[in-house]
Amino acid sequence: MALIVQKYGGTSVANPDRIMNVARRVAAYRAKGDQVVVVVSAMSGVTDNLIKLAKEITALPSEREMDMLLATGEQQTIALTAIALHQLGIEATSLTGAQAGIVTDGVHTKAKIQNITPKKVHALLDAGNVVIVAGFQGETSEGHITTLGRGGSDLTAIALAAALKAELCQIYTDVDGVYTTDPRIVPNAKKLTEISYDEMLELAGAGAKVMQSRSVEFAKKFGVVFEVRSSLNDNPGTIVKEETKSMEGVVIRGVALDKNQAKVTLVAVPDRPGVAACIFKALGEAAINVDMIVQNISHGTPTTDLSFTLDKPDLAKARKVIDAFKPEVGYREALVSEQVGKLSIVGVGMRSHSGVAAKVFETLAKEGVNIEMISTSEIKISVIIDLAKGEAAVKAVHQAFIG
Ligand code: ADP
Ligand code: ASP
Ligand code: MG
Repeated sequence: MALIVQKYGGTSVANPDRIMNVARRVAAYRAKGDQVVVVVSAMSGVTDNLIKLAKEITALPSEREMDMLLATGEQQTIALTAIALHQLGIEATSLTGAQAGIVTDGVHTKAKIQNITPKKVHALLDAGNVVIVAGFQGETSEGHITTLGRGGSDLTAIALAAALKAELCQIYTDVDGVYTTDPRIVPNAKKLTEISYDEMLELAGAGAKVMQSRSVEFAKKFGVVFEVRSSLNDNPGTIVKEETKSMEGVVIRGVALDKNQAKVTLVAVPDRPGVAACIFKALGEAAINVDMIVQNISHGTPTTDLSFTLDKPDLAKARKVIDAFKPEVGYREALVSEQVGKLSIVGVGMRSHSGVAAKVFETLAKEGVNIEMISTSEIKISVIIDLAKGEAAVKAVHQAFIG
């Protein structure tokens, strides 16, 4: 008998048939005597629709109220999943994130988990129940509902697996594992049998939405080994775990494209100490994550151009911050482009191989893709390119490195 945490994403619970399919999978583990905690997402499209409704009222809705709104999506699914299990004669109880003891900070729409006290979960498991927990949500210590950032049900599952010391953590989705790149863009992408936390983290941060990046960070920190697999077949999935020696033999583990980035250029920013600090402090205080930053060299002029990228959904909020610091910073104008994509290649083997960057740039040049920004880490190279050329660029880079 084992304690298993299973997470089912939006497509896996998209309609009553799919929810019955989830119930049957859970029932099979129950029949073996395992204890099962199920984490579910909102049915596919529900979260997007709720966001759309709010945006029809205002571009900048209150973040607290957005959390109140979005948390309802997962609440529908937990109840439906419990009802489906009852239908199979299995005792099951649904819990909201708060009822499961998930306490977060107060950064609405991207709250961080502070602690988990899963008392109710334990009690229900001990009484023979399957426990179904709403993904993506928690509450502050003052009792306000929060959400954990898009894709945050992954984080709920991993955090619960850590808190419950689960023997197994399975992330069920609509692909049967982590591939060398998004199989919807490159059909001959290869399924990986295993991948290190660091590689998965870089791929997730680079837009491979198969796992939410904060969930991978959490898994690494608490040593939660997990498997990404399909809810629609029984194929073995991909194991995500600590790096092993053999993983270094592969130079490039995967390629990712993030279509969700926007680029901001502040033109004619005064070139004096303290200006960058002022800009990025203001953005940080608004909980806007800035990714790449490039500052041009100012050829003897007292001003320079400063470009940075951020997540598209943060753009409306960022515009407000940028307007607010204009008098203090004194830049001339702010140019915004939403037509950018971030292409990244990732692999721990890059540490001990040279020439990877040159090969990426050469491949993009052959495709006629202009590189607007570059950033690198020990195991990743990212470039900002024209969004319209993103998918062709991924195909070319995947072909050049993986085949
Ligand atoms: P869920 O709703 O189950 O959380 P997501 O839509 O968030 O599922 O993530 C699964 C999707 O991630 C896949 O359908 C696939 O298109 C995409 N994806 C992007 N990069 C990868 C990759 N490297 N491997 C597998 N899937 C990927
Ligand atoms: N429903 C949330 C979202 O769409 C969380 C999740 O699916 O993991 O982002
Ligand atoms: Mg997801």
